[in-house]
Amino acid sequence: MSNRSHNPTRPNFWPPTPPYWPPWWTSAPPCPYPTNPGWPPTPWTPPQRPPTPSRSTHAAAEDQQAHLTDYNPLEPTDIAAAFQTMTMDVPDDNWYMDSGATSHLSSDAGKFTSPCATSINLVYVGNGNRVPVLGSGHTTLPSSSRPLLLNNILHTPHILKNLISVRKFTSDNCVSVTFDSFGFSVKDYKTGKLLSRHNSTGPLYSLTSTSPTSASAFLSTSKSETWHYRLGHPGSPVFDFLVSRNFISCNKAKQSFFCHSCQLAKHKRLPFEESTSITLQPFDLLHCDLWTSPLLSKTGYKYYMVLLDDYTHFTWIFPLKFKSETFSKFQQFHKYIQTQFNKSIKCFQCDMGGEFDNTHFKSFANKTGLQFRFSCPQTSQQNGKSERMIRRLNDLMMSLLPHASLPPSYWVEALHTAAYLHNILPSKLINFHTPTTLLYHKQPSYSHLRTFGCGCYPNQNATRPHKVAPRSTLCIFLGYPPNFRGYRCLEVATGKVFLSRHVTFDESTFPFSKSYKPTQNTYTFLEPDPSPLFNFHPPSTIHTPVQPQEIYFPSLRILLCIYSIDINEKSPREFIIQHYHL
Ligand SMILES: [Zn+2]
Repeated sequence: MSNRSHNPTRPNFWPPTPPYWPPWWTSAPPCPYPTNPGWPPTPWTPPQRPPTPSRSTHAAAEDQQAHLTDYNPLEPTDIAAAFQTMTMDVPDDNWYMDSGATSHLSSDAGKFTSPCATSINLVYVGNGNRVPVLGSGHTTLPSSSRPLLLNNILHTPHILKNLISVRKFTSDNCVSVTFDSFGFSVKDYKTGKLLSRHNSTGPLYSLTSTSPTSASAFLSTSKSETWHYRLGHPGSPVFDFLVSRNFISCNKAKQSFFCHSCQLAKHKRLPFEESTSITLQPFDLLHCDLWTSPLLSKTGYKYYMVLLDDYTHFTWIFPLKFKSETFSKFQQFHKYIQTQFNKSIKCFQCDMGGEFDNTHFKSFANKTGLQFRFSCPQTSQQNGKSERMIRRLNDLMMSLLPHASLPPSYWVEALHTAAYLHNILPSKLINFHTPTTLLYHKQPSYSHLRTFGCGCYPNQNATRPHKVAPRSTLCIFLGYPPNFRGYRCLEVATGKVFLSRHVTFDESTFPFSKSYKPTQNTYTFLEPDPSPLFNFHPPSTIHTPVQPQEIYFPSLRILLCIYSIDINEKSPREFIIQHYHL
């Protein structure tokens, strides 16, 4: 049985390590938006309860961890103690659902839309501490159909976490809140309609920040079409899986629309084959390959190296300007794995291309004990996993670029986004786990995803030249930067790239579509090369890039794909016939 999901020796997860991303890192991190900062969470042990007078059960039941009260001796609840004593988290912007609180509490008055005075001076928290109240206010949280009210939030600067009283929230908004092991859902109490869904991976049920500039404040129900674009045009099984598990919130359960970009990108897609290799841990076996682009990217890249972990399917990509960079990037990667995961790569599968089959790699393997597995010459099937991954990434790029009307020279930006999405999407080949889950033991979040290439407005308050300059300008969303919780935004007017966390998106417009009209064949350069029937060495004078074109020689049943050529006024066909004596 080759299906890895039936392998009884395969452990479910591997102990994860902190996701630290060094500056040289060029691939997308697994997901910089977990609701729980840091991994793994520091185990929390309840503090010693202070001695309490004997009390009736009824009285104890009325004691809640954060509420308006006159002075009463209080018993701490576990969650209250956590808020008061845990040191693993610094105070943060998030809101946390608390079924024990009778009032909403926030340490940040900046969250209030209408601050006002209050007659309440103190709030008691679960461990008996008194917390001063400086004022109160209101705010709203967006949802799919109506704003949800947070009334009478008490401004308590000493509280570590912003709390939403579940009781007050449900009664003020006429909603129900359903908790499950992945997070919670807010539904209209009368109609049962889902208003918002929040996936939380940490020990608490959290919402993301509700600052007005944070577009991902409340995960709203969006059209299935919008989610299809944000997720990088996944197939129905992946989409249906995410909807059925409430990881994304859609107005329709099925993808029931026609996607033009998918037709362009996927109509030739072949099914992925079942894996036949059995690996027991991450980094037991790494597949690697190099792809050559016929087009220089905007940032000067010509190649990319893909590294695929056999066990988790986690994928890293490294754009390269020269093939000679392959070895140094691999060395960096090898070191990264050692430092961050305390593991060594055991086996490395690649083809016999000169970038791998050289003395650098051989002496490195001898020194480190790394085993090299080369595919036989002209037997690319033996390196099938990395080749299929290249095809998958290129297919993804072929969906992302035309949908955004971006010129092909932005292929590196699309590539980073494609790898990022691959790592957080479930895959049938790993039993509908995600590569991130298998490598980091953490469910990725989807609420921050936005449609690649759409219009966006990053907050530029801090960098504007003078006070009357606009606070934002029209930009194009270019993906998720590594090492940074935010978005890459390309300013249309100046060509500058901004990294910003506070971005407002317009996912219905694609600013490049006004200035650039791709033709039907613009992106065919991303299609996989036709399988070579024989190896030939091009003459050294071939260097002029041309529009990729395929030439078929029926008598020899040979298909050649021409990417660059020195044609010297000859047609490519004549040139090939002359040089190769066909
Ligand atoms: Zn699509």
